[in-house]
Amino acid sequence: MTFELKALPYPSDSLEPTIDARTMEIHHGKHHATYVTNLNNALKDYPDLAAKPLDQILAHLDQVPEVIRTAVRNNGGGHWNHDLFWNLMTPGGSKAPTGELAKAVDAAFGSFDELKAKFKVAALGRFGSGWAWLVAHQDGTLAITSTPNQDNPLMESKHAILGLDVWEHAYYLHYQNRRADYVDAWWNVVNWDQVAALYSARR
Ligand code: MN
Repeated sequence: MTFELKALPYPSDSLEPTIDARTMEIHHGKHHATYVTNLNNALKDYPDLAAKPLDQILAHLDQVPEVIRTAVRNNGGGHWNHDLFWNLMTPGGSKAPTGELAKAVDAAFGSFDELKAKFKVAALGRFGSGWAWLVAHQDGTLAITSTPNQDNPLMESKHAILGLDVWEHAYYLHYQNRRADYVDAWWNVVNWDQVAALYSARR
């Protein structure tokens, strides 16, 4: 089995003005595509490993042969993170958490606004390239974290329900050095229905 780049779940210009079409096209068609190509190259002599679901590979990197471990970590992480990221956004967004997720947000942070404030601190505090995350624990509680490079919460046995790419390639064409503006604008396109589905599927 080889890993494949799926089409974006919406037209590349449909997240404008929050994320411009050119950024989406390069980000998905070049950056994400390269992670997929490099992941397949790393695994080409390891068919048993390549047959496993990617989340299981990333959750058990210690079982990946050392000679390809860094390549799998970076490119497997890159593929998984971007698959998640595209599906966490939707044209027009879906405004705010609802139901059980909204209750968990209030319990963990006091309010949705406070979640956004703390998430922004994590996104801006990640020096260089990486991701900010909202993770759900098995008991339903929530926490904010961040990771460098293409690492992700799976590698720490945690369940990500929201993730924001803060690599410059994700925002530089439109926002240049203004990462804070990108983070603030991003809430306009978050698909909270998908976040809620991932929250319900935690284990
Ligand atoms: Mn990216």
